[in-house]
Amino acid sequence: MITVNIHVYGIVQGVGFRPFTSLAAAKHGIHGTVANKGSYVEIIAQGSREAIDGFISEFRSNPPDRAVILGLDELETEAPVFDSFEIIESEKEYGDIFISPDIATCDKCKAELFDKNNRRYLHPFINCTQCGPRLTILDSMPYDRERTSMKVFPMCENCMGEYYSPMTRRFDAQPVCCNDCGPELYIIGENTKGSAAITKTRRLIMSGGIAAVKGIGGFHLCCDAKNTEAVERLRKLKHRPMKPFAVMMRDMETVNRECIVAPGQEKYLTGWQKPIMLLEKSAEQSLSGRIAPDNLTVGVMLPYAPVQMLLFDYPDGIEMTDCLVMTSGNARGAPICRDDESAVKEIGSFCDLILSHNRNILIRADDSVVDWLCGKPYMIRRSRGFAPLPFMLKGDKTVQAVGIGGELKNSFCAARNGMLYPSPYIGDMADIRTVKALGESLERMLDMLECEPSVIVADKHPLYNTLSFAEEYAKKHSLPLVKLQHHYAHILSCMAENNYDGRVIGVSFDGTGYGDDGTVWGGELLISDWQGYERAGSITPFKQVGGDLSAKEGWRIAVQLLRQRFENAGEICEQLDLCDSKTFKLQSVMADKGLNTVASTSMGRVFDAVSAILGIRSASTFEGEASTALMYHAEMFERRKKEPAFSLSCSCTEEEDMLRLDTSSLAAETARRYLEGADRAELAFCFHKAVMELIAEACIRLRQQYGISTAALSGGVFQNRLLTRMTKEQLEANGFKVLLHSLVPPNDGGIALGQAAYAVKHRE
Ligand code: ZN
Ligand code: ZN
Ligand code: FE
Repeated sequence: MITVNIHVYGIVQGVGFRPFTSLAAAKHGIHGTVANKGSYVEIIAQGSREAIDGFISEFRSNPPDRAVILGLDELETEAPVFDSFEIIESEKEYGDIFISPDIATCDKCKAELFDKNNRRYLHPFINCTQCGPRLTILDSMPYDRERTSMKVFPMCENCMGEYYSPMTRRFDAQPVCCNDCGPELYIIGENTKGSAAITKTRRLIMSGGIAAVKGIGGFHLCCDAKNTEAVERLRKLKHRPMKPFAVMMRDMETVNRECIVAPGQEKYLTGWQKPIMLLEKSAEQSLSGRIAPDNLTVGVMLPYAPVQMLLFDYPDGIEMTDCLVMTSGNARGAPICRDDESAVKEIGSFCDLILSHNRNILIRADDSVVDWLCGKPYMIRRSRGFAPLPFMLKGDKTVQAVGIGGELKNSFCAARNGMLYPSPYIGDMADIRTVKALGESLERMLDMLECEPSVIVADKHPLYNTLSFAEEYAKKHSLPLVKLQHHYAHILSCMAENNYDGRVIGVSFDGTGYGDDGTVWGGELLISDWQGYERAGSITPFKQVGGDLSAKEGWRIAVQLLRQRFENAGEICEQLDLCDSKTFKLQSVMADKGLNTVASTSMGRVFDAVSAILGIRSASTFEGEASTALMYHAEMFERRKKEPAFSLSCSCTEEEDMLRLDTSSLAAETARRYLEGADRAELAFCFHKAVMELIAEACIRLRQQYGISTAALSGGVFQNRLLTRMTKEQLEANGFKVLLHSLVPPNDGGIALGQAAYAVKHRE
């Protein structure tokens, strides 16, 4: 008989790992102990060598569904003889820390939820070791009931029995509860509770009303997705005229009816993370046309919390829709509401009732949003189910750091011991409530991860709230602050996700970022590695007139691009219906005199301008509206499977030692063709193709110059799946290795990872 000490690293807490271990021990006749050490699980195993090998092989061949084993060490040791296998209580130790994200309700719990004979029949908080809330109810580590928001719900005798019995699925499940001892649903402001509250909410939704519903990571606003009147009313109340709403569908059958599900997508859709997935609408779609106007796709998710399942199915005789709008319950710009007080104050006027419950949400987590690219998920918003799963980096393990993130779509990232932990989505930092949410979440996460940063990294933009937040934080804790250029951080984020150490041609195509020369950057070619970058090229600079408005109103950008290339730009602008001659003159004077004008190389703005030129969107009501609608037209053309009848000429020139991608001429050429009567969708497609060709040509030239044949594509423009796919294919056809994002957003939601990774990888 021998004794071995086994350490298992990875996501091994809150996923049923200890019960799994004790069952495996029983199977192989192993005696000993298992304990959570905060950073890893420690097992002392006693038995024959053969039995121990069999026992260990269980971890490799057949680990618990939700566990992610990143490493397993085994060391022979000496110990007294054990006569059983015991689970010992959590101890706290210092090391790598893994916090499980929230896990969607598992199939077994769902079956019990609707089983009349089960004691958790219709229990809105049913969960087990394989599912339930984790990060959002966690107060501190290690993960035990008294350190979660379940601590105020003492277990009843029955639940306690399951909790302590290795034979049940709830053995050691921290949030375990039932109808007798768990939290309770209620409608805020009235005395309607439990089953009456669910029925009232269902009835309201079916009569065309809007309900706010508290879920796992915050409140949702919810209405019948097939009822255009309700959807329209929600749009008005939320001041959200066009931005697509996510839809929660009852089951896969509904999804298959409403959408075209590509191979691979179903696995993701039904998996434990249950993100919102952008799926192509089917021809038979019964959703209101106002859900995702001018979009080939609609964001769809399946129910992931018991209360959501009960909204679809409840024995109260109400005939329920199988498609519910589920949009984040927040005021414009503000973070998602997580408690009753903020819900009443901030979204109370957007809805007819608020269905809440008394299990506190300690950390907000919006729904994650995932697109699909080249057979793989392509992250748009990384939050619930993903945060704070870490990325491992080769690098200095002693550095502890925080990347504060970008201004729009903020999330931050903590680095500790070579691990990078991205936070859930925080929101738009222009709003002071979001800045406050950042402070709260940061404090909580650093606490849980026992991360004591020695350096803070933030975006360079002098007017960003993230920078002043970082400055204050650094000052308060006497820490150095590194200000990192925005588009370089995008490229680093892509390198970090791919754990790439070499030099790359970084194609950073984006909306807005503060350039080193004080101008607006956003169409950049950055030769990058962990030590720094060189701006080797950009798109042709243009004048961005009108401050903040120019970021929303693509027609303003179009006017300036056309002025750069046409003598008679005024006439052309009128013909294209961009503006009248008076406005044109005003815009020209402002540009020429430099009033409220900045030089810009923002590729995102060029997409907006072309959208305006083609009469698709002259302005955006939400970030990305004009460019998404442009992509939609291009995709519609591609669907027709026709080769375009022409191509738009474009060129890459050298200017003061920099490559310039002449997007101004490209926009002008698009306008000329359009006025000559070319098809709008065809032009939209040709524009995408021309941008792809510009990138490829630039990369080929830079490869000659620098000898680098790896390209990294990052920045918000690469949220455009058509452009990203075409560019990747073209670059690969030309012999490039292409680094793409997959589980980190290419947009500003990914910036924090690049910032934190810089702190770990950069050497003075
Ligand atoms: Zn479960
Ligand atoms: Zn109970
Ligand atoms: Fe950006």
